[in-house]
Formats: sequence, structure tokens, C-alpha cells
Amino acid sequence: MLWSKAFIPTLKETPQEAESLSHQLLLRAGLIRMLMAGVYSYLPLGFRVLDNIEKVIRQEMDSCGGSELLLPALQPKDLWLKSGRDKDMGEVMIRFVDRRGRNVCLGPTHEEVITDLLKGHIFSYKQLPLLLYQIQTKFRDEIRPRFGLVRACEFIMKDAYSFDQDEAGLDKSYETVYHAYLRIFKRCGLDCLITEADPGVMGGNASHEFMVPAESGEDLVLYCPKCKSSQTAKEDSLNDCLRCKVKLERRNTIEIGHIFKLGTKYSTSLGAYFLDAQGKQRPIIMGCYGIGVSRLISAIIEENHDHQGIIWPKEISPYQVIVLPLDVSDKKIMEIASDIYSELGQNNISVLLDDRNERAGVKFKDADLLGVTLQVIIGKESLKNNHIELKIRRNQERSSKEQGEIIREIKRIIYG
Ligand SMILES: [Zn+2]
Repeated sequence: MLWSKAFIPTLKETPQEAESLSHQLLLRAGLIRMLMAGVYSYLPLGFRVLDNIEKVIRQEMDSCGGSELLLPALQPKDLWLKSGRDKDMGEVMIRFVDRRGRNVCLGPTHEEVITDLLKGHIFSYKQLPLLLYQIQTKFRDEIRPRFGLVRACEFIMKDAYSFDQDEAGLDKSYETVYHAYLRIFKRCGLDCLITEADPGVMGGNASHEFMVPAESGEDLVLYCPKCKSSQTAKEDSLNDCLRCKVKLERRNTIEIGHIFKLGTKYSTSLGAYFLDAQGKQRPIIMGCYGIGVSRLISAIIEENHDHQGIIWPKEISPYQVIVLPLDVSDKKIMEIASDIYSELGQNNISVLLDDRNERAGVKFKDADLLGVTLQVIIGKESLKNNHIELKIRRNQERSSKEQGEIIREIKRIIYG
């Protein structure tokens, strides 16, 4: 992509509406724009980041046996009355009556819909276990949307649901997804804290939360610096780690994932039964597994940035390489830039070429702000020795090499 043809509205100043560091950088790097409080448009760079996160999630969910589907956002309120959660959801769920007089809602989650779907199709233990997931837009009527993508009214979630015939099966499904989550968050450049949480409104008997430390985070976690274990600050009276007897640290975090052992709450209330090997009718045992996909973008930025801007993990970076010709009026420089641009493209490496007629300083600043993994810098000085420069955004390390070597080095870093 040529920058001159792209839509990347970077900002020099920090916008007033920004309430946290990730929110500032999301706006300044031209990733998102607010339509109204809690509702955002993803601009092309933000959309590429979102797409990369979704790719990682799909790979890991598929690799643990998940099948992707897509459920409707518009749901009959009736299902929520049956599960008993219409009341629990309170004012958070967006409800209305459509022109045909149907009571409907915009789903903040999909346990009811998926259980209702499955009950017409699962009859025998031979059809279990099953793991289904979707990546979809969800809605919450937040009274105080905040921090950009962290607490929004419209957001993207990955929600997965497991269906098993017994508790042992659920334990296995739960553990499989738990480990997939560890791999997903690692690939997203996140070092998360995992806490055992209260299942709350979801019901069931076990749940874990995946949290990322962030100053603006709204969830307080007690963290043991020695054994790295953590717990939600419910246990407020707790001062020391019970295992290590060292003082627990309080940390503000953003919740990025939450998994639950639901048990039979939804299958019994919505009538999803199967026949076991003995021919006895039993409710399907369920688990559900969420990841806040759009919120992950904020969490990744909170954990991966410096004073200059964002530092994307390589699988998430909107482009893998940005090419910076420092003088677009110089024919030789532009020839080499366009050469490198095509060669990287042929190697399936995504490239942004900053072909704007801007000063070198502006290009350097913007490249650092955007946080693309690698920068290729082509200027008059190094060309005197037939050299171009490669800069690694994460550690700002610069090296000067011949063109062929630069391409090999980039391939090594991206694919190595
Ligand atoms: Zn400890």
C-alpha cells in the first residue's frame, strides 16, 4: 500500500477525548475514530490490526477442534425470559419492540441462542463433545463508556461454547480452551495474569479471567510478585500470598478473556437434552469462553508502546514493513524504494510505502507512532556506500546493509 493512497489520519497532538494511553495512541496513529460515545469506526489500519488478531484467534480455536459459525445479533427476548437472564441483564441489554410487535434484543452474549440452536440437533452422546465459536459484534447499553475500545457500547467478541456429556468432558474442553487462550494472548504480545473468578450472572461453578495490567484498567487484581499467582480484589482483606507469605501487589488490569464452566444452567432451562450410552435422557453440559477482540487492541497497546508510539507484536502489526524513502524527488531513492516494495510483496510480506512528499523527520515520527515491526530507511547518505538501513521498531536497533541482505534479514525476522 502507498501511503499517498491510504487513509491514515495521524495526529500530532493528543486529542482531548482520549482518557487513557491506549486511547490516545489509537486516535493519534489513525486506527479508530469516535462516532458517538462508546461507538467507534475502525479506520483501515485499525481494521488490519483487528483482522490480524482474528486470524490468530481462528488458528488457535480451529487447532483445538473448534468450528466457527455466526449467530444473529438480533434475538427474541423470549429466550432470555426462559433462561431467567432477562432480569439479570438489567439495563445493560438493548431491548425494543419491532414493527411486528415482537420483543427483541441486541445480544450482549449468546448462550441462549446457541443452546436453542443445539437442542434441535444434538440427540445422542455420539454427537458430543462439540466446540463452536463465533467472532461477532455485541451490544451493551453502557451508561459510562470509557477508554476508547475498553468499555464500549458496540464491540467485537469471540465467544465459544463447549458441549459435553459429563463433567469430565467439560473439564477437558475447559482445559483445552484455557491453553488455546494462553497461546492466543502470547502471540498478541501479552503477558496476562489469570485469576479465578466468580461466575456471577453466567451461572455455573468455575471461571477464570485473563487480565492485562494497565494503568487505566478498571479491574483490580492482587498479584504475588514471587509465585506470579493472582486473584481478584474481592478477597479485599487479603494482604499476603498464602503460599509465599510475601505482600501482594495491587494492579489495575483490563479483562481480555473470561471462561466459565456453565454446567447445565442453559441446557435445562432451554431444554437441550441428549441420550447417553444407557439410553437415559440427560442435559448437555456446557462451557463458554469469551475474548474481547476489539478490547484486545487497547490491551496490546497498553503493554506494547514507548514514548514514540505503538510497538506492534509482529503477527498483529498492520503492516510488517514500512519503507521510508527520505527524499521522494530523488529518482535513485524512489527506484530502490519501489524495488524493495515489490520484492517484499512477492515474498508475501505486507508493506506500507511512505511515498508522501514530507520531511524525513515527519516520516520517522509517523513510522514510530504507527509501530510497524520493521522500518526500511532509504536516504542519500547510506546510498553512497550502496547501503540502506533497517530499523527494528521494538528496540530501535538500526543496521546498514546492501539491498539483498536487507531483504534476507527481513524474511528471517518475519518468518524466523
Ligand atoms: Zn505467592
